[in-house]
Amino acid sequence: YYNKNTILYLNGQFVKASEANIDLYSQSMHYGYAVFEGIRSYRTASGETRIFKPAEHYERLQRSAMAMNMPYSWGVEELTDATYKVLEANHLQDAYIRPLVFAPANMSFSLNKESYLTIQVWAMEPFLGENLLNVMGSSFQRPNPKGFHIEAKASGHYVNSILASQEAKSKGFDEALLTDMNGFIAEGPGANVFFEKDGRLFTPPAGNILPGITRATVLELCHHMGIEVEQKLFTAEALKGSDAAFFCGTAAEVIGWKSFDGVPFAKNWNDSLGRKIQLAYKALVTESITEPVSA
Ligand code: PMP
Repeated sequence: YYNKNTILYLNGQFVKASEANIDLYSQSMHYGYAVFEGIRSYRTASGETRIFKPAEHYERLQRSAMAMNMPYSWGVEELTDATYKVLEANHLQDAYIRPLVFAPANMSFSLNKESYLTIQVWAMEPFLGENLLNVMGSSFQRPNPKGFHIEAKASGHYVNSILASQEAKSKGFDEALLTDMNGFIAEGPGANVFFEKDGRLFTPPAGNILPGITRATVLELCHHMGIEVEQKLFTAEALKGSDAAFFCGTAAEVIGWKSFDGVPFAKNWNDSLGRKIQLAYKALVTESITEPVSA
C-alpha cells in the first residue's frame, strides 16, 4: 500500500506515509469507531485522471459520520481537490482511494469534540473483473440493522466482513455471500449482489445492506439499457436456481460468478446480462463512451 515515497493527506497536510502519526489511544483504534470510503480513480480513454463519482462518495462519508455522531466539517469540493492532489503527488491514475475519519484519544464511550481525516491512495490494476468467482454462502450473517447503522460505512462493521471473507478463503472459495438476520441474501463482505433469472435481474432492496454507489450506477445502466431489475428479498435457494450472478462495488467493479456453493451457473458469463453491464460500467468509468449503449 505504501513505500518510503508515498504521500498521504492528514488533517489538511500532505505528509509522507512513513512519517504520519496517529494516536494509539484513539477511540477508533480500540473500538473500530471510525467511518471511511472506498473510491476509484481511472485513467480515462483520453489519458486524464478522473475520480468516479467523488461527490456521491464524500456525501456518503459525511452521512456515515453523522450517523455515528462524529464531528464532521469537510466539504465535498475541498476533499475532491485534496484527493486529486494526493493522486498527483503519488503519480497515480488507476488508483483506489481510502478516506478515513477517525476519533481522538478517548477510552470512554463518550462523544468527541473533533474528528481527524486522512486520505490514502494506492495503485489498482486498470480494470479487474475478467476472472470469475467461486462464491460460498457464509455461515456469518450481516449485522442486525437494529444494532448498527448498516447504511453507514463504519469501520467496526468490517470485522464481520473480514470473518466472512477469511472463512470463504480458508475453504477454498474466492469470496463469501452473507445473509441478513432473517436468512435472506444480503451482500458480499464489500460488494452488492445481483442475479439473473429468465432475462431479468434481481437484487436485495435497501434496508439490510450497504446500498452501494456501484449498485446505484448498475441500476442506472440497466434503466438506459432496457434491462428490467426487481429489488426484492430472496433466498440462497433462489440464487442456486438462477442463470448467472455478479458482485458490484467500487473496488470489485462488476465481477461475475462462476459458481455458488460449488454449483456452477448454467449460463456462460459472456452471454449474461452481467457481462453487458460489466462492459458498460467499464466504458462509463473510463469515459470511453458518452451515452450507455443499449442491450
Ligand atoms: N456492501 C458493502 C458491505 C461494502 O463494503 C461495499 C463497498 N463499499 C459495497 C456493498 C458496495 O458499495 P459501493 O458500490 O458504494 O462501493
